[in-house]
Amino acid sequence: MYYSDDTIIYLDGKWTKAKDASLTLYNQSLHYGNAVFEGIRSYETEDGALIFKAKEHFDRLHFSAEKMQIPLTLSSETLTKLSYELLEKNNLTNAYIRPLIYPGENMSLVSGNDSHVLLCAWEWGRYLGDHLLRLMTSSFQRPNPKACFVEAKVTGHYTNSILATTEAKQKGFDEALLLDSNGYVAEGPGANFFFEKNEVLYTPKLGNILPGITRQTIFELADEMGIEVRERQFKVEDVYAADGAFFTGTAAEVAGIESLDGKYFSLQWPDTIGYELSRAYNNRVQKKEYKNFELV
Ligand code: PMP
Repeated sequence: MYYSDDTIIYLDGKWTKAKDASLTLYNQSLHYGNAVFEGIRSYETEDGALIFKAKEHFDRLHFSAEKMQIPLTLSSETLTKLSYELLEKNNLTNAYIRPLIYPGENMSLVSGNDSHVLLCAWEWGRYLGDHLLRLMTSSFQRPNPKACFVEAKVTGHYTNSILATTEAKQKGFDEALLLDSNGYVAEGPGANFFFEKNEVLYTPKLGNILPGITRQTIFELADEMGIEVRERQFKVEDVYAADGAFFTGTAAEVAGIESLDGKYFSLQWPDTIGYELSRAYNNRVQKKEYKNFELV
């Protein structure tokens, strides 16, 4: 599904077939979850494949690598160029690009001096699908920001996400909504959260969440469309009383939510600000203009 016999990846300065690539079993990432990564999308536009907000993603990759003290010497510009080459070599336009920077052989708990750079890509539909989501409040909290760098995209953090999504699916929901260690709403396992009440959008403030690039794009679009967004702390009960809600993420894009813990939001998705923003987002990533609620 992620690769075929012909898939080409970039690994440590070389283009190689995914099926022929190998790595040491004694790497610190496999045993302890120490690696940093990104999730990026490219879209087919009138001007060809466009990697949406490539600089923002690769700058965040550098930020994550610095936080975990994993060496990353390739610049964001170089990584962007390599990603376009990767798309070309694999004949991809609408694609998901996964850069991963992982340490080498090291069974100690100290950051080492060597690291490996992997870039791979595959076609991937919207991560949470196209139907409206039924969420449950997770019994798992997001990691305490004093236990790790929550604002960095570190592979090990995703064990928490796996626990939360698996729990939600096993209980018959589509996805989880996680609280922070103080009981405030934080985010989804792989997406940021927004809700809508009386035509104002609310989203958790930074501190316990990954500062999503899609979240930032929503701020930009909302500003252009004259929609107020408030970043603050709020509780699950505030969400129960919402008119609508949605997740944002590179893989998920803007994904509408219909209920939390079996409580349905008051508006139908097509009547929400979230729906308008989802359309505006689709147009923005494909470089189509969308202003004042109209495609122009
Ligand atoms: N939170 C978490 C935990 C995520 O994994 C993601 C996906 N990267 C997001 C939020 C959304 O971030 P972005 O919009 O940058 O993809």
